[in-house]
Amino acid sequence: MSFENYYRDSIAEIDLTAIAYNIQQLKEHLKQGTEVCAVVKADAYGHGDVQVARAALKAGAKSLAVALLDEALKLRNAGIKAPILVMGWTRPKDAVVAAEYNIALTVFQKEWLMEAANLSFKETLKFHLKIDTGMGRLGVRSIDEMEEILAVLRKDPKFKLEALFTHFATADEEDRGYFDKQQTRWNEMFSYFKRNWAEDIEVHTSNSATSMQVPERMDHFVRYGISMYGLYPSSYVKKRKPIDLKPAFSLTSRLVHIKKMNAGESISYGAVYKTETEEWIGTIPLGYADGWIRKMQGMDVLIDGKRHPIVGRICMDQFMIRLDQEYPIGTKVTLIGKQGDQEISADDVAEHLDTINYEIPCMISQRVPRVFQEGGRTVEVRNSLL
Ligand SMILES: *Cc1c(COP(=O)(O)O)cnc(C)c1O
Repeated sequence: MSFENYYRDSIAEIDLTAIAYNIQQLKEHLKQGTEVCAVVKADAYGHGDVQVARAALKAGAKSLAVALLDEALKLRNAGIKAPILVMGWTRPKDAVVAAEYNIALTVFQKEWLMEAANLSFKETLKFHLKIDTGMGRLGVRSIDEMEEILAVLRKDPKFKLEALFTHFATADEEDRGYFDKQQTRWNEMFSYFKRNWAEDIEVHTSNSATSMQVPERMDHFVRYGISMYGLYPSSYVKKRKPIDLKPAFSLTSRLVHIKKMNAGESISYGAVYKTETEEWIGTIPLGYADGWIRKMQGMDVLIDGKRHPIVGRICMDQFMIRLDQEYPIGTKVTLIGKQGDQEISADDVAEHLDTINYEIPCMISQRVPRVFQEGGRTVEVRNSLL
C-alpha cells in the first residue's frame, strides 16, 4: 500500500531553518572553541528526533545527546554517525549494545562499573562521568565516591573515560547564589580529578540557560536543548534576551465544520458552555489524544489573524471555538504560532497550563504528523501512523 503523507489537516510544522539559526546565534555568543552538542532527547522535545539531529549537525553541532539508550539507537539506525551521549542511567547489561554502536553512556556508580566489567565487550565502552554538584538527580557527590570509580578505571582498559560533566539547577534564575555554590563544588571536584587522572578529557557543564547566561565560563561544549528549539529557558532569561531565537514549532489545523447556533444552546460534553446570543461555532479536529489536553479549555486559537476562544470541553479528537463571523470549511487555524501580527507562543500555552514551555511541544502526541520545513518549503513529513 502506498499513502499520501497524511490525511488530516492538523499538523506540527517544524522549521529546521530556525533550528540552524538558533545554533548559529549561540555559537556567535560563545567563546571560540566551545562546541555545541544538540540535545535531541524526547523526540527532540517533540519536534522530531532524526530530522532535528540531522539539521543540527548540518548547522554546526558537533555531537548529540539523548536521555535513553533507545533514543540513541534510533539515531544510529537512521544512519547518524556523530558522537552520541546518553545522559540518563542505562542498565549495566546494556553497556555492550552501547559500545557496539559507539554510544557514550553516563556513569557514576562504582557497582555499575564492576557489573559491566564482567561482560564481554568487542569495543571499548565510552562514558562520561557525572558529578552531582547540587542538582540532586544523578552523579557522584563526593571526592571519595569519584576516587572509587577512578580506581576501577585505572585497572580496566575496556572503559574509556571521555568526559566529566555536571548540571546546574538554577542557571535560568536571576539569583546567582545557588549557581555559584554548584560552581564552587564543581571546581573542588574537578581539581581533584585533574591531580589524579593522567589523561586529558573533555568537560561540559552547561545547558541552554548556563550557556547563554555565563558564556565566558564555557568549556569544551555545551548541551543545547530548549533554546535550539527557539524557546528561552525561563521568563527571566527571555527578558534579558542574551541572544535572539526563532521558535521552530508551530501547530495548525483547519475548520472542519461551522454552524450558527441560537442563544441558550449547549456545546460539548457536560453541556457546560451555553451560547449567550446567536453565535458562530466552529469545530477543529484536534483533541486531548493529540496532546491538546482538556485544560486547554478557555485558551484562544488564531483564525484570520484574530483570536477566537475555545468553548466547551475539549474532546479526545475535536474541540469547538466561538467565531466572530462565518468562515469557510478548510479555513486555517493556528494553535501555536503566528498569524499576521498575532501570536500564540509555546510560552502563552505554558502560562495557560501553569507549566514551562519545555512541556508544550513534548505533549503534542505522535498522532500529529511532523512536517519539516526549510526556507519555508516542506522538505519531509513524518507521520507515525502510516
Ligand atoms: C535536558 C538536558 C539538557 C538540556 O537542557 P536545556 O535546558 O533544554 O538546554 C542538558 N543537560 C542535561 C543533563 C539534560 O538532561
